[in-house]
Amino acid sequence: MPIQWFPGHMHSTKKAIAERMPDIDVVIEMLDARVPGSSANPLLAELTAGKPALKLLNKQDLADPEWTSAWLAHYNGLPGTRAIALDASGAPGAARQLVAACRELAPLRGGMVKPLRVMICGIPNVGKSTLINTLVGQRMAKTGDEPGITKDEQKIALASDCYLFDTPGMMWPRITVEQSGYLLAASGSIGRNAYDEEEVALELLAHARLRYADRLQVRYKLGDLHGATGETLLADIARKRGGLLGGGRLNLQKAGEITLTDFRSGAWGRITLETPAEFAAWCSEGQTREAARVARKAALLASGKPRPQRGGEA
Ligand code: GDP
Repeated sequence: MPIQWFPGHMHSTKKAIAERMPDIDVVIEMLDARVPGSSANPLLAELTAGKPALKLLNKQDLADPEWTSAWLAHYNGLPGTRAIALDASGAPGAARQLVAACRELAPLRGGMVKPLRVMICGIPNVGKSTLINTLVGQRMAKTGDEPGITKDEQKIALASDCYLFDTPGMMWPRITVEQSGYLLAASGSIGRNAYDEEEVALELLAHARLRYADRLQVRYKLGDLHGATGETLLADIARKRGGLLGGGRLNLQKAGEITLTDFRSGAWGRITLETPAEFAAWCSEGQTREAARVARKAALLASGKPRPQRGGEA
């Protein structure tokens, strides 16, 4: 079953972003470099349409450098967009790099009269708090007695003429790209209660197998993976690591937990789960599915038949 999550404080965050937007010169969106397309918030794209955009591909230390370069080229090729890869916790010179990229995107802003106003957004767990702590440590601005972060406004002076406005992590209400739901759950951006670990692990293994079968082979001491699927891989991991349940059954739940923990901690090495072309294809499938769902719903409403109960197709 596709993953659906509760989008939390989406409405209040959305409103706050919309209200602030007219005064913002550059929107920074933090993405997870392991799943750059899936971790981009379509709601944010709507709210910030037309604003210069800086995409920060965070957790690059966990992502495959070859695909990080491909994603950077993809974003840098979009109009009004720049992209940088970083590791939020240790990025030396992150503040300087970030301010320089924002100045390039909004060359007419800057100086005391027209300070550069930047907003930073991202889905939960993408590393925004970590980056902000790093930036506060590297601030180029002398703020005197003024605290670095004003709690009510969440405004940080990055340079004497560059302010960063923070926003709470925001999710969007409906996943139309099914694969993204699984990959976001795998990478830790969706609350634990919204998904089944075994199911997410199956999808994660099926994706990882496409480019990183050798890593899985080494990690779990597996044999030939030719023809392996998510299911056979999870069963293999259970055999090797998960132990057995009563009656000799495989403990797939435990194998699922091991799989997710290993992926999240980087135990498989640096992994990127989607390429720009793959993500574009998933989006187009998702749009077709969503259009069919909307058409079915409209037909059902027009027919006057009662709507299916929750859990069925809506
Ligand atoms: P937020 O919800 O967006 O504020 O995310 P946090 O800053 O709390 O980070 C979520 C988790 O990701 C924490 O465990 C961080 O230590 C970790 N994290 C953040 N940035 C990076 C990074 O660049 N690399 C790695 N490996 N972990 C990171």
